[in-house]
Amino acid sequence: MPAPTHAKVIIIGSGPAGLTAAVYAARANLAPIVFAGHMYGGQLMLTTEVENYPGFPDGIMGPELMEAFRAQAERFGSIIHNVDVTEVDFAQRPFVVRTAEEAFTADSVIVATGASARWLDIPGEARLRGRGVSTCATCDGAFFRDKHIVVVGGGDSAMEEALFLTRFGRRVTVVHRRDSLRASKIMAERALNHEKIEFIWNAAVEEVIGEDATRALRLKNLVGGGEQILEADALFIAIGHDPNTAIFRGQLDLDAAGYIVSTDGVRTNIDGVFVAGDVYDIRYKQAVTAAGMGCKAAIDVEKYLEARETHHKAAVNA
Ligand code: NAP
Repeated sequence: MPAPTHAKVIIIGSGPAGLTAAVYAARANLAPIVFAGHMYGGQLMLTTEVENYPGFPDGIMGPELMEAFRAQAERFGSIIHNVDVTEVDFAQRPFVVRTAEEAFTADSVIVATGASARWLDIPGEARLRGRGVSTCATCDGAFFRDKHIVVVGGGDSAMEEALFLTRFGRRVTVVHRRDSLRASKIMAERALNHEKIEFIWNAAVEEVIGEDATRALRLKNLVGGGEQILEADALFIAIGHDPNTAIFRGQLDLDAAGYIVSTDGVRTNIDGVFVAGDVYDIRYKQAVTAAGMGCKAAIDVEKYLEARETHHKAAVNA
């Protein structure tokens, strides 16, 4: 039987939000089609140990957790495609969702495309990407055994990356633009107390120096002024994320930062199109909150489809 190209619900995204929505939608017999993206699994695929996802007292590796989410969604009949959605048309009914190869239609859609790591946009960064410059310590940390590694950022991601990178680096330096950390207390304390981690406060990385490999960074002192060249073999950038909403521009209401606008955290401005996870959530941004939102979105989709069906039946019988 050919794979279906119409679904009662299409879910775009396969992080905790998308796959939880898939579990709930599949268990409600909606046979969701999930566009997981070519890099499926969301941000937890790029992380190491997750210590705060409830149910795992000893922690669990991010990719292992996401494989479990996916297996659970598939167990109940979700159809998962590891391809990217390139275009949507929410002005038509049924809604149209296109990939590079095919067009799909759906009676409802859950947008759970998450967010992607931010870059600094400084000279040398793009040229040396993959040659010392990275946004993923899990992916690239092991290349820098016994090297000097710099991490930029002051949030939980930066602390997590710095701590993880101490396994490889001879020395890890965190460069932060202020003199206090945004990270949670526990993560900040671990990093501040780690013997291999040093901090450079009130500084911005302004250039990555090196021809075919990262050799040094040009830092600007943001308080006293002046510059410093810091020898470094790698730069890991952990300065937050931007929502993945390019394909929804002009289709859904977005705020100034590009996040999807929702009045109640689940519905968008288009009736029948729902949202869940980091693509909407600028406040909590946790795997468990994303999963919770995915659950809510799927339950609301079910209600939406039921109400629509009742309305159709009433119209036919009238
Ligand atoms: P975040 O909390 O937004 O922190 C971003 C950090 O990067 C901030 O310190 C910010 O500086 C800095 N920054 C932003 N733009 C910059 C720029 N252009 N140049 C230099 N520095 C810049 O992002 P996150 O660390 O990715 O964390 C996101 C969410 O995930 C948070 O809710 C966090 O708690 C959660 N998270 C949790 C864990 C965990 O619990 N294990 C791990 C990772 C993430 P300012 O402080 O000056 O704004």
